[in-house]
Amino acid sequence: MSRTAVILLAAGSGSRMNGAVPDKVLAPLAGRPVFVHSVAAFMTSSIADFYVVVYRDPRQMTELMAYAPTPSALVRGGRERQDSVMNALAALPGDISHVFIHDCARPLVRPEQLVALHKIVRREGAVVLAHRVTDTIKQHRDNARLRTLDRTRLWAMETPQVFARDLIVRAYARVAARRQHITDDAAAVEKLGHPIALLENPHPNPKLTTPADLAYLEFLLTQ
Ligand code: C5P
Repeated sequence: MSRTAVILLAAGSGSRMNGAVPDKVLAPLAGRPVFVHSVAAFMTSSIADFYVVVYRDPRQMTELMAYAPTPSALVRGGRERQDSVMNALAALPGDISHVFIHDCARPLVRPEQLVALHKIVRREGAVVLAHRVTDTIKQHRDNARLRTLDRTRLWAMETPQVFARDLIVRAYARVAARRQHITDDAAAVEKLGHPIALLENPHPNPKLTTPADLAYLEFLLTQ
């Protein structure tokens, strides 16, 4: 039987917000906290059997608890995003077969995308929400030499990133054993050589990173 958990990451320091708001995942956005937008999308999708909310410190935990969906576990995050994910994976109940990992700094995720990801992960074992890159991307190499990458093959990763539980646990164990640094979950699975499906997101799903992003997200939500 397939049972699905959702890891909601909220333990970042938000340092690039330059103190514009006390906590970016709790900042008000179109009438409710940023965190609540992701929670609402997951609840509407009905794909989740269990949630793990990853918080930064006891004070933030108290606030997040008020909005956390049920049933859920609250888990303290770590120094880097990958440490937070590993803490959450360790807290999964034994019967979970699939795991969504979502940055709550991306509040524009939609229920229908969650349903589509859920269907794909049960077939493929690994799938990430992503969009095509529209800029021309160059790799800066030694001696100021540039290399132009083939744009038709470039994708920007978003979240959720969704995996069979055994696969993502194995992938993170390997990353930890080798002390590797990764910036998304797919990177851990890539290192195992396992294929990863991409679900193209036709809608903007930006990550709240700087104060200007709040106004942009508000604009997108009220369109
Ligand atoms: O810092 P950044 O915006 O890239 O973080 C992406 C997501 O990962 C955010 O939702 C943030 O709360 C979360 N995160 C975390 N633990 C960390 C760092 C980031 O849960 N140590």
